[in-house]
Amino acid sequence: MARESRGLETLLSRREPVSIATVNPATGELVKQFQAHSDADVETRLARAAATAQTWRKTPLAARTTVLTRAADLLDERKDDYGRLMALEMGKTVRGGAAEAAKCATTCRYYAEHAEAFLADEPIQSDGERAFVAYEPLGVVLAVMPWNFPFWQVVRFAAPAIAAGNVGLLKHASNVPQCALALERLFLDAGAPEGVFQTLLIGPEAVAAVLADPRVSAATLTGSEPAGSSVAAIAGKHIKRTVLELGGSDPFVVMPSADLDAAISTAVDARIINSGQSCIAAKRFIVHRSIADRFTQGFCEKMRSLVVGDPADAATAVGPLATRQIRDDIHEQVRQSVAGGAKLLLGGEPLDRPGWYFQPTVLADAPPGTPAYGDEIFGPVATILTASDVDEAIRIANDVDFGLGASAWTRDEAEADCLARGLAAGNVFINAMVVSDARFPFGGIKKSGYGRELGGAIGMREFMNMKTVRMKGFAS
Ligand code: NAP
Repeated sequence: MARESRGLETLLSRREPVSIATVNPATGELVKQFQAHSDADVETRLARAAATAQTWRKTPLAARTTVLTRAADLLDERKDDYGRLMALEMGKTVRGGAAEAAKCATTCRYYAEHAEAFLADEPIQSDGERAFVAYEPLGVVLAVMPWNFPFWQVVRFAAPAIAAGNVGLLKHASNVPQCALALERLFLDAGAPEGVFQTLLIGPEAVAAVLADPRVSAATLTGSEPAGSSVAAIAGKHIKRTVLELGGSDPFVVMPSADLDAAISTAVDARIINSGQSCIAAKRFIVHRSIADRFTQGFCEKMRSLVVGDPADAATAVGPLATRQIRDDIHEQVRQSVAGGAKLLLGGEPLDRPGWYFQPTVLADAPPGTPAYGDEIFGPVATILTASDVDEAIRIANDVDFGLGASAWTRDEAEADCLARGLAAGNVFINAMVVSDARFPFGGIKKSGYGRELGGAIGMREFMNMKTVRMKGFAS
């Protein structure tokens, strides 16, 4: 399939100029505009980060983890306020934002409790010498982050990095400046020295210079494929390590032996989480032909019954999209898919009200080459495809450029094994929706990126020097 024709460049070229501002997605109103940091502001923060990196790496681990424990307590205390702030800036439900802050707290505590084990030297048996691998921080890590989980994406990088003795510079998405500043405040209030975690209020055009600066050791980017490609190119030029967590078009495979009611109900949850704006939201539902009618009917009924509305309202299941651009991009992807032969079963239009709302939408039988078949649709739009057996389901599931998550439903263990091994993704969940969890490595393959976050020590070590030490003349 000619992936170049997928319209990504078109979508990009239509991006509005980036201004750093809070615009309420539920109303479309500009709430607050921010002045970008000047070159001098950026230099002050860079210099502070570099100086702090020298002291923070030598700060006893107990002091570093105490910061995380305090941050966890503050996240729990402030979770409702943070939930309201996230809703104001990017439109997720207040309930969802509070849960996100609580998840950040759990992750900070997890790294506070386990960092000692994750960072311990690993002895290696070697005759006539003492030998071990030591894990040492790299220094200043630049984090370029998206708006969709404005606290979680940052904390899942920051908690292990801070425990490891690295320091962070956050360039957050331009539509969530208040979340970015709240995170900086959070770590300061938790007792972190000033340079341990700082926010840079800068646009994407200012990232290259920061990344090229010799005082920055590495970068992590969560976001779109073009942003990842651009940051990786600059990092490559300057020989700096990167982790890229990019987009996904996750499959959700349903086989005849599955618990169909559970599969349908989870399928809807997995599609509309965060109003559909999640990298690991299930986007393509690949259903065995023999159960396709029942699945489609049940799925459409549940999608139709979802309450779309104000993020502050407890009954709301789907809030507004984060920006007008995203809503318009989704609309265009749906239009292109239908023009290309996909069937529109439900929705398909923006809501006629202020704010960036879009109807929960179901498409079926999208032909290869249409956006609904293989692109990432970042909103409440589901695509149902059918397969005649497990091999065909796996082939369709893997027939995309992405490889982030995959969910598959079956009660047949041999089939479950076949799906778990055959699905090309960084995360495969059987009879459950894909979620992130500090204990498990999280990341993708193909154009979903590379490297891993979380997973205990695994993600932590992405930004560490794994130093081989061999000491002749000393007993092991
Ligand atoms: P985005 O446009 O790529 O933005 C992400 C971040 O990158 C923002 O801070 C953005 O800054 C910055 N950025 C954009 N272009 C850049 C460039 N050329 N150079 C340097 N920085 C640049 O993505 P988004 O629309 O905010 O987020 C949605 C995407 O993120 C989706 O594709 C989603 O799947 C992906 N995502 C992936 C994961 C994962 O774990 N794999 C998790 C969440 C989201 P500005 O805001 O200032 O433009």
